[in-house]
Amino acid sequence: MEKSTELRKVKRVWWRELLHRSDWLIFGTIGVVLLAFIPVVGWLMAVGLAGVVLWKTFGLRDTLVEGNCPACTKALRIDPKQDVIACPVCGSCMAVGDERLTLVDLRQ
Ligand SMILES: [Zn+2]
Repeated sequence: MEKSTELRKVKRVWWRELLHRSDWLIFGTIGVVLLAFIPVVGWLMAVGLAGVVLWKTFGLRDTLVEGNCPACTKALRIDPKQDVIACPVCGSCMAVGDERLTLVDLRQ
């Protein structure tokens, strides 16, 4: 038996997006300033980090992936880079596909 649910792509609501971006700006700027104290290597990393901060602050909105646990229907935030995740509510394991979450039965 295979149980699966569809993954959804969502955007953050605007005030969360704002918080997310100000976090990046504040902590990113602190990181850049700290790196700038390290000669040469730190300067190069500071330039790289500044680029990331500018992109995260003023770039396109990230698309987040959400899905419901196939076992208990709890809404979960999905990291598409992970192959398998466990539901924090019911402990079920599920495989993360391109478009679907599929329940993995560990008792087999
Ligand atoms: Zn669950």
